[in-house]
Amino acid sequence: MGLFEKKKPQTIEVSGHALVCPVCSGIYFWSREAQLNTSVASFFNLDWANKSATCFVCSECTHISWFLG
Ligand SMILES: [Zn+2]
Repeated sequence: MGLFEKKKPQTIEVSGHALVCPVCSGIYFWSREAQLNTSVASFFNLDWANKSATCFVCSECTHISWFLG
C-alpha cells in the first residue's frame, strides 16, 4: 500500500469506541479523507451529507471502514 506508507497506522476512536477491524480484529488504521463523487452520493441518497467522508484502512488486511462527515 504505497499510498499509506508515509504515515504510521494508529488506533482510531469513533463515538467513544475503539475502532476494531471486523475482518482481522486489527486496531491500527491509516486514515484518509475522501471526497464523495456527486453521482455516488446521489445514488446512496446522501445529498444531505457534505459529500466528504473519512476512511480508515486496516494496517493488517487493508479492509476499509468508511465514515461520513
Ligand atoms: Zn483488518
